[in-house]
Amino acid sequence: DPQQTLEGLRYPLADAGALVIFRDVTRIRHLEQVRQDFVANVSHELRSPLTVVRGFLETLLDGPLGADPEVGPQLRLMEQQTLRMQSLVEDLLTLARIEAAQANPEECEPIFIAALVEDYLRVLADAIATKKFALICRLDPDLGVFAQPLDMASVVRNLLENAMKYTPSDRKIEIVWEKRPEGLVFSVRDSGDGIGPEHLQRITERFYRVDKGRSRQLGGTGLGLAIVKHAIERYNGHLEIESRLGMGSRFSARFPLRLARSAPADEILP
Ligand code: ADP
Repeated sequence: DPQQTLEGLRYPLADAGALVIFRDVTRIRHLEQVRQDFVANVSHELRSPLTVVRGFLETLLDGPLGADPEVGPQLRLMEQQTLRMQSLVEDLLTLARIEAAQANPEECEPIFIAALVEDYLRVLADAIATKKFALICRLDPDLGVFAQPLDMASVVRNLLENAMKYTPSDRKIEIVWEKRPEGLVFSVRDSGDGIGPEHLQRITERFYRVDKGRSRQLGGTGLGLAIVKHAIERYNGHLEIESRLGMGSRFSARFPLRLARSAPADEILP
């Protein structure tokens, strides 16, 4: 009973010069839930029409219209924009999924980050070769983290893609996955543009970008770091960002030690 609590506290606190404020957060939580559900529903509804539009565009592009010098380029532009909308919808759905609840232990398994990084580096091989990055990897192959596969895939993918997007050619990118006394750390350090201190506080907010035009041009949805932050916090971990303008940035995902798993012996042995 808040009234009773207030009564009980009044005299001692009045003497101490303190003020107690009670606020009912039930309504705020409810509104937040409504907002999350709405975004998830809209994104879900947009999925099917986008798939249909993209399918027809692909069929048109494969036919004679695709080769038409006037219509072809316009069709390709439409296809490009449809792809962008699809990435946005997928990112919104991912964010809705990971914002909604803590990780479910029944859906968790040991995720070997080193293998995940290697898979993505293979996907990004062309970009790495074109931009001639010097990649330095210090990855413990036997160290796993007990988590949902999609969450860890989002963390690794977004941090690697950002490092590649915001780092000019011929520079260094360092990727680390290791166990330290204070926890498990996955970090990606680039030697790119860096982020000014005035932006650092807000960089993980949805759709916050330092340079909107540039991010769009590079194919970003503006949701990547929001996804990374929420995916890490589902495991009581946290995202640490260190950056200096013009010098580069380091993004570190830190997880509690109790999530550490090691590879079964028969998988380690050759
Ligand atoms: P985007 O899809 O725009 O990359 P993110 O949420 O992943 O969205 O990142 C938000 C913004 O943070 C980016 O638009 C960019 O301005 C900045 N940013 C992210 N990663 C880096 C990085 N490694 N170096 C410099 N700036 C970065």
